[in-house]
Amino acid sequence: MARLFCARSLRSENEQSGALFLRNSVERRVREKYLVFGAPHFGEAAIGEVVDSLRSGWIGTGPKVARLEQMVSEYTGAKHTVAVNSCTAALHLSLLAADVGPGDEVITSPMTFCATANSIIHTGARPVFVDCERDTQLIDPAKIEAAITSRTKAIVPVHFAGRVCDMNAIASIAKRHNLRVIEDAAHAIEGRYDGHKVGSMSDMTCFSFYVTKNVTTGEGGMVATDDAELASRIKMKALHGMSRDAWKRFSDAGYKHYEVVSPGFKYNMMDLQAAIGIHQFDHVEVWLDRRNEIWRRYSEELKGLQIDLPARDDPRSRHARHLYTLMIDSAKTGVTRDEFMNRMHAKNIGTGVHYIGVHLHPWYRENLGTKAEDYPNATWISERTVSIPLSPHLDDDDVTDVITAIRESLGA
Ligand SMILES: *Cc1c(COP(=O)(O)O)cnc(C)c1O
Repeated sequence: MARLFCARSLRSENEQSGALFLRNSVERRVREKYLVFGAPHFGEAAIGEVVDSLRSGWIGTGPKVARLEQMVSEYTGAKHTVAVNSCTAALHLSLLAADVGPGDEVITSPMTFCATANSIIHTGARPVFVDCERDTQLIDPAKIEAAITSRTKAIVPVHFAGRVCDMNAIASIAKRHNLRVIEDAAHAIEGRYDGHKVGSMSDMTCFSFYVTKNVTTGEGGMVATDDAELASRIKMKALHGMSRDAWKRFSDAGYKHYEVVSPGFKYNMMDLQAAIGIHQFDHVEVWLDRRNEIWRRYSEELKGLQIDLPARDDPRSRHARHLYTLMIDSAKTGVTRDEFMNRMHAKNIGTGVHYIGVHLHPWYRENLGTKAEDYPNATWISERTVSIPLSPHLDDDDVTDVITAIRESLGA
């Protein structure tokens, strides 16, 4: 556990260790060109849209952001959407809009990216982790109630890897205890549960458009909600706490004075970012179909190896297929997860770790007192998990290369 991987630093860190490894190894490359984990792809329409922003001279928040918000509203069925510059900002503002602050507690899963916990901490509240299930990697609803205290204000379920949480169970717990539900749907914009689209089920739902996510604007995020009052508070807080009409400053409606009604943040999205994202909604379902095909090939062709594959799908939900994770147990395979990643790298296949559980990182251990043994499932996953490429832009030969590299790296 000495090396901590963050999604963002993984690539360079891995490249360095891989380079070291190459000098000492006889690993065979399975392909000429390095297969970068999670690289996005942009068509001519997106390139044209970005150029259009640049040529127009209007690159800040404006009509393209409004278009992207409209698209996400239509895609998710949410009545209101507010675009911001990251999912971290979306989570932070949603928690603030839910009146979460110092002295409060917010329940979430330790099996997530650090941003989920950090956004809670930034409000002054305390994240209370409830262990995930080992197979689904999702917060275990059966353990939530025992973690609720008089200070609990909200539950933040994370649709990890694109698998949607048991929202019926979570909603009924929230209702019983009068808690807000704010979904971290960074992995699951395409997700559905029991006939409902992710984005239309809870008080607020937060999406990420970070580079590696299923839909990207480079950096970006969005809050979806059916509550006009929450949406307007979030919008106000996202732009310095200026009164709502301040967003009209970004139009050609003429000069308007603004009033600051709260000390807010600088979390707004630029048109330049929205331009990158707008045309992705033409493809989002086609890309999901393609990831489904790749997913089926992995599940078919990797079964029988001494590794665990993702849990079976929940028939109540549609999985958004964000991450395909393998569990590498060195006792079974004779190779550690990190050594496996080095071998994959030497074979020219990029992989990732999603994630080392939040509870294992030093700040949370030192300041919240989290211990590996308190979250045995999240710890078990943290020690074994590795994500293999699942981009819709992989062709069949790329997928074959990944499968070949996995078999060879495991000595199968
Ligand atoms: C990526 C991610 C975030 C943060 O998204 P940003 O847009 O980079 O702020 C939050 N939660 C999860 C689960 C993520 O994977």
